[in-house]
Amino acid sequence: MTDHVFPPPAPASPSTEFAARTAITCPLRHLLEPTMTQALLDAGGGWRCRRCSQQWDGPRLATVAAYAVWALEHDAQKAALLNAARPVESLPS
Ligand SMILES: [Zn+2]
Repeated sequence: MTDHVFPPPAPASPSTEFAARTAITCPLRHLLEPTMTQALLDAGGGWRCRRCSQQWDGPRLATVAAYAVWALEHDAQKAALLNAARPVESLPS
């Protein structure tokens, strides 16, 4: 009888481990969805938030994330314009 030697399993990449552990939540900061994983989202899955009743899936989450980035950039540009328009304060003499 011979012993079978199986190769060790390939180590998961850091991104795979991170995705597996990352909690999926409603982007409106409502509830953690314990049954949803990044792999399920990538496969086209989705869920309905139990608090706000919004239906979420990968494309919708990506849209919300892109809007959040746009809003941050928009606010930064607005603040820069307001600062540029502010009159220069005179230095104390
Ligand atoms: Zn929600």
